[in-house]
Amino acid sequence: LFISFEGIDGSGKSTQARCLAERLRAAGHEAQLTREPGGSPGAEEIRQLLLTGDPGRWSAETELLLFTAARRDHLERTIRPALARGHTVITDRFADSTRVYQGATRGDLRETVDRLHALMIGAEPELTFLIDMDPAKALARGLARGSGEDRFEEMGLGFQQTLRAGFLALAAAAPERFRVIDGDRAPEAIAAEIAEIALPRIGS
Ligand code: C5P
Repeated sequence: LFISFEGIDGSGKSTQARCLAERLRAAGHEAQLTREPGGSPGAEEIRQLLLTGDPGRWSAETELLLFTAARRDHLERTIRPALARGHTVITDRFADSTRVYQGATRGDLRETVDRLHALMIGAEPELTFLIDMDPAKALARGLARGSGEDRFEEMGLGFQQTLRAGFLALAAAAPERFRVIDGDRAPEAIAAEIAEIALPRIGS
């Protein structure tokens, strides 16, 4: 089973992805936890290129190509081999992040995003948990945990609101794949809801 977690910065999706991997392992399943941008040695190198340096280091087009290159490597080297071994893959972000982030940064690139995905990636998770949060709360949480170090997190509340709306629109358009999870609750309660949805989907 291929599962992704999506959400705005500071929504708690990384914590929840980790919790689900731990729960699946505790239940005797093989679970591979991974993340984007990154998730393979080459893609982690591309992550460094993407997240460091001046905000204007890359044009929106180059940035999209780098995210796509990283995803392709992640898919080839980590995701597909793990799925082929029959493992469950849990990724912290996947293509929906690019649809929303790069689409939000440059609305006119949205079609290019889709065309590049069709050309170079193709794969889609079977189950996507969208951890939905009020951006003001998520931002406060993100700052509180000492992240916000990379250039993308400096873009502020309005940008995060656009992202939230973008994720919710994707979820509404693909309800068979998405589960929208209320992220403004105790982490344990969220983890329990997610495990309840995911566990029955995994063949024993
Ligand atoms: O999820 P994580 O915090 O590791 O993501 C790293 C940064 O990359 C985040 O600040 C996120 O906003 C940004 N990002 C992006 N476009 C993507 C994926 C992540 O701008 N497609």
